[in-house]
Amino acid sequence: MKALALFSGGLDSLLAIKLIQEAGVEVEAVNFIQPFLSPEDEKRLVAHLQKLVSQLGVKLHIVRLGEDYLRMLENPKHGYGKAANPCLDCHIFFLRKAGEMMKDLDAAFLVTGEVVGQRPKSQYRGAFPKIDEETGLAGLIVRPLSAGLLPPTIPEEKGWISLSHCPSIQGRQRKIQLELAKKYGLEYQAPAGGCLLTNVEYGRKVKDLLKAEGRLTVDHLRLLRIGRHFRLSPEFKGIIGRNQRENQVLFRYFYQHRREEGLYLVKALGAPGPLTVGFGRPAAEDLNLLARLTLRYSDHAPDQSVTVKILTGGKKHQSTKLIVVKNQNTPDPDRYRIA
Ligand code: SF4
Repeated sequence: MKALALFSGGLDSLLAIKLIQEAGVEVEAVNFIQPFLSPEDEKRLVAHLQKLVSQLGVKLHIVRLGEDYLRMLENPKHGYGKAANPCLDCHIFFLRKAGEMMKDLDAAFLVTGEVVGQRPKSQYRGAFPKIDEETGLAGLIVRPLSAGLLPPTIPEEKGWISLSHCPSIQGRQRKIQLELAKKYGLEYQAPAGGCLLTNVEYGRKVKDLLKAEGRLTVDHLRLLRIGRHFRLSPEFKGIIGRNQRENQVLFRYFYQHRREEGLYLVKALGAPGPLTVGFGRPAAEDLNLLARLTLRYSDHAPDQSVTVKILTGGKKHQSTKLIVVKNQNTPDPDRYRIA
């Protein structure tokens, strides 16, 4: 008999796999990768996850989420948490995807590391039946860490497995998990960074993007991770690079999308300073404002007239120049900053 475990990279999901293995079941694991991680971060994460599951001799499937995940993120049925984290919908989404994989993998049920009462929205006891119902997998989701507190699942009722060796963990305490990790000799280190969607600052930028554009794209979500973000009008925003690496990312983005309308590359000439990319439909004063903000972060001395070059994407691919001065009249960036 085989089961498919949702493996987040956390200690709880590692222990859940081990407990099901102890019940005599072969386990494979799946991790769902959010599509907006950078290729480097994704590579690091996958290597880390592989290292963790290799302790249990488990095959790991990596599934990179696609457009359907973004559509869920734009309009989660159960809403967001403190940031742009639609944890309940996201979790249901993962379970559904895993459910779709069961047939191909010949897995009889799913396993998760969920614990009763650990997270307010998705892991209170009453949430589990609702989650199971919404996924269409009622009775087939086994939660070994809280097994003693939950009604028996189909695999238990049918006698495929016994979970009598499993604990009855509830709440946020970690004591039992740490004892089990020690008992099973599992080395454990959480993946660096955590989920970006739970980051409040990132969440504000996601919500700003949704309000302005009405939809999310992988490219835009990736760009939200870098630079200083400014909303200059409901239809226009700018991202100003904070260092050479971010300037390179912004330049690459502009270059790759240079044939698209509504894209602007801004640079104050004559001294080191940031690259800026503008997105949307700016009025003339919005472009002027973006030029002045770009100049503000450059190394130019105050009170000089500086030429700021603006390349416009699209069929015309124009280049224009504005003369601006860095002085007391330069707008306060905090008025426009999305953070
Ligand atoms: S923390 Fe992130 S990955 Fe996890 S359920 Fe919430 S939104 Fe999804």
